Amino acid sequence: MKNSYKPLIGVLHGLGVTLKNFFRRAVTEQYPEERHELPERFRGRLFLDHNICIGCTMCEQSCPNGALKMVPWGKISNTSKPQDRDYYLFPQVDIAMCTYCGWCADVCPTGAIRHTKEFELSRYDREHFEYTPELLSKSEKDLSPGPSPTRGG
Ligand code: SF4
Ligand code: SF4
Repeated sequence: MKNSYKPLIGVLHGLGVTLKNFFRRAVTEQYPEERHELPERFRGRLFLDHNICIGCTMCEQSCPNGALKMVPWGKISNTSKPQDRDYYLFPQVDIAMCTYCGWCADVCPTGAIRHTKEFELSRYDREHFEYTPELLSKSEKDLSPGPSPTRGG
């Protein structure tokens, strides 16, 4: 007879937990309308300031998994570079392979490549993970709508 009350104890315990949490302030954030403030040193998508990139390849050499490679890109706006070539080497990043370790940004002597706080980078297909120097030089919101859900495509 005494054992028949045992299941009831579990139910009451569960109701107690529910009641206790019912009066607590909600911690759920209504993302994307509400956005959590990111830590100061958050490492999001990389950004390239091509105006101060000197093409030294330090970022490529430091990348531990080959996510970053130097590629030619004709957009020249750094007048300190020699004028006898029509293109220069700039970093290109496969963000699907990038581990956001920050090494490329740490070794960059001019601060040309650095992490932003952008993290909404989901895509429907792999080809859109390759960030050319031109794409790296823009922020996510300035990129034209593509197949990414977060770009509204
Ligand atoms: S953050 Fe790390 S993994 Fe990503 S490109 Fe830079 S060095 Fe490579
Ligand atoms: S981004 Fe920085 S480390 Fe990479 S090539 Fe340009 S200047 Fe060198």
